[in-house]
Amino acid sequence: MKLALASFLFCATLVAAAMAQAEEDCGPALVAPLAGATGARVEDYAAVFESCARGDARRLATRRFRIDGDELLLTVDPQTLETTLARAACWRCEAASDDEQAGTRFLQAVRPPPDASRPAALVNAGLIHGRGAGSFVTGDLCPSQKPLDRDFIEEVAAQGPGAPLTLAVSGAWIARHPVDFAWLQEKRRSGALAITWADHSYSHPYAPGLKDAQNYMLRPGVDLDREIFETEKLLIAHGETPSVFFRFPGLVADAALLEKLRERHLVALGADSWLALGPPPRAGSILLVHPNGNEPGGLRIFSRLLKSGKLPLPFRRITDAP
Ligand SMILES: [Zn+2]
Repeated sequence: MKLALASFLFCATLVAAAMAQAEEDCGPALVAPLAGATGARVEDYAAVFESCARGDARRLATRRFRIDGDELLLTVDPQTLETTLARAACWRCEAASDDEQAGTRFLQAVRPPPDASRPAALVNAGLIHGRGAGSFVTGDLCPSQKPLDRDFIEEVAAQGPGAPLTLAVSGAWIARHPVDFAWLQEKRRSGALAITWADHSYSHPYAPGLKDAQNYMLRPGVDLDREIFETEKLLIAHGETPSVFFRFPGLVADAALLEKLRERHLVALGADSWLALGPPPRAGSILLVHPNGNEPGGLRIFSRLLKSGKLPLPFRRITDAP
């Protein structure tokens, strides 16, 4: 009898331990960073739109894929717009539609109501100004042969631990700058910066001298899905989490591209204060600089405005902007 009770308790303990382990496994899925990882680490990458539940928690899944043998979801909190990777086995998901999710903050960001102050297309369509005070610092990492402007990154980090910074990164930049990218990852991991990764396409198509309407993502043969997904996969392969934001190269997109982007459940991110080109920032501005070595003038303006108290503070997370 005693033995039976002891073995029952032992079994119960094992079950409880297994359940605790399962619960732990159902938190945000961590992908171990792998030096030299490529997008090929991420398999069967597919755009989905599913409503997922686990207990009281609700998420929308926008991508499904496999990595290192696990099936994962890229999920977004429909109210905060925060993205997390999650184990598919932990969630009960069913197909969702934009109509049924239209009341969520996420769908309102993806498909905002018409607003006369927003450019429709061709240049700078999308979210160009945020709500409330402070400002939203965004830096574009278009492909570049030059090193990362680390002084600018340090200047943002000096605003305090966890200073928010949105980096619109191209996959081609990551592939060419492994050491700079690892340095940024360490800034995020250590808590020095709260980096939000916006997708800036993979190859960042551009031909000098062509008009906007024939350039950037509007060049013949450019595949928007491939440009979106290859950068997302590369971020995930490095243990990072893509956000819901996409910045078109050159800020150029026509109505068809904008609609395809919405179908992939991404938010087009523009800017109302490209510091190198003006106008100066005001409360709620989305600032744009290029810390990829190609636009030092904009970084000097950033530094000067920051030191003279002319940048609206605090810097805020881009997820607060829509
Ligand atoms: Zn760019």
